[in-house]
Amino acid sequence: MIPFLSLKDVTNLHSEEIHEAVSRVVNSGWYLQGEENKRFEENYAKYIGSDYCIGCANGLDALIWIFRAYIELGVMKPGDEVIVPANTYIATILSITENGLVPVFVEPRLNTLEIDDALIEQAITPRTKAICIVHLYGRLAYTPRIGELCKKYNLKLVEDNAQAHGCMFNGRKTGSLGDVAGHSFYPGKNLGALGDGGAVTTNNKELADTIRTLANYGSPKKYIFKYCGRNSRLDEIQAAVLDVKLKYLDKDNAHRKQIARYYYEHIQNPAITLPEQMTDESNVYHLFPVLCDRRDELQEHLKQQGIGTVIHYPLPPHKQECYSEWGKLSFPITEQIANRELSIPIGPSITLEEAAVVVEAINQFK
Ligand SMILES: *Cc1c(COP(=O)(O)O)cnc(C)c1O
Repeated sequence: MIPFLSLKDVTNLHSEEIHEAVSRVVNSGWYLQGEENKRFEENYAKYIGSDYCIGCANGLDALIWIFRAYIELGVMKPGDEVIVPANTYIATILSITENGLVPVFVEPRLNTLEIDDALIEQAITPRTKAICIVHLYGRLAYTPRIGELCKKYNLKLVEDNAQAHGCMFNGRKTGSLGDVAGHSFYPGKNLGALGDGGAVTTNNKELADTIRTLANYGSPKKYIFKYCGRNSRLDEIQAAVLDVKLKYLDKDNAHRKQIARYYYEHIQNPAITLPEQMTDESNVYHLFPVLCDRRDELQEHLKQQGIGTVIHYPLPPHKQECYSEWGKLSFPITEQIANRELSIPIGPSITLEEAAVVVEAINQFK
């Protein structure tokens, strides 16, 4: 049996230190907004290369707070447009619509699976205020052309870095490439908590202060409420666990890269296409997607051999019931990816021996 991802095995990699950290918080009697948050925020900001890090309840909230803060600061207003890849996890889109902003979908490239930067300029209108890139699957989505478009049209560059902790462009980490970034520490992410968690990173102090206030009931000072905010804080236990795991993130990512290299070198099947191989720094392999016309058969074939896989994602946001107003829109590349994508096992705990079994099973698929 090779599970898609065993969180138990992932936690066991650093079991002793994680248990120590949890016990420390339990015994401290201080469970929110304390030293653990402060330490993790400092260390994560340093890791990403940003001046500020604000821990919050989860990755969706991190993204919601980014757009809400831009609205509170008068940079955006409801009805303004945000350019996003059409193939992303729903949370990216929810964070935009939750704030009354309008997502404008742009197709990805089939060979990279990331937003096609050649299609962005034609999607810009006088109401466009931001480009939100998503480093999907752990692959770098930023390109210099995207940076230039933001300058040319005076747009904010927001990064959804939920799947790409540790990914880099020219020696700089994703999450520090634009104006602001949202991060998720959902357990299965490259840097995962033992529950929900998220963070925002930015170099903009005013934005950072606004986000910290919004995520704490809208309160900049005890019992003073400047905004109608929400309770969206990272708790001390999660911060302590994340601070332990942050130390091992680069090592864990290096292991993912080793497994990925093995897959690229050994998967050989005319029925299966791998996305373009990227440089080691620009892919942290949160997932290892493959494309196959008979994807469901491939998934069943692997299941028969005890190999777990997951589809990311079977239905794109514009086809979801919650967004029925966009159901008639057509994004053929996005839809093709949704129909053909299958993610095979990858993670910090899978062994090269297990990867060899996965390759063998994939190469046998007819
Ligand atoms: C996981 C994820 C999120 C949301 O993070 P949560 O912590 O689960 O709320 C946002 N965007 C992308 C691309 C994700 O993969």
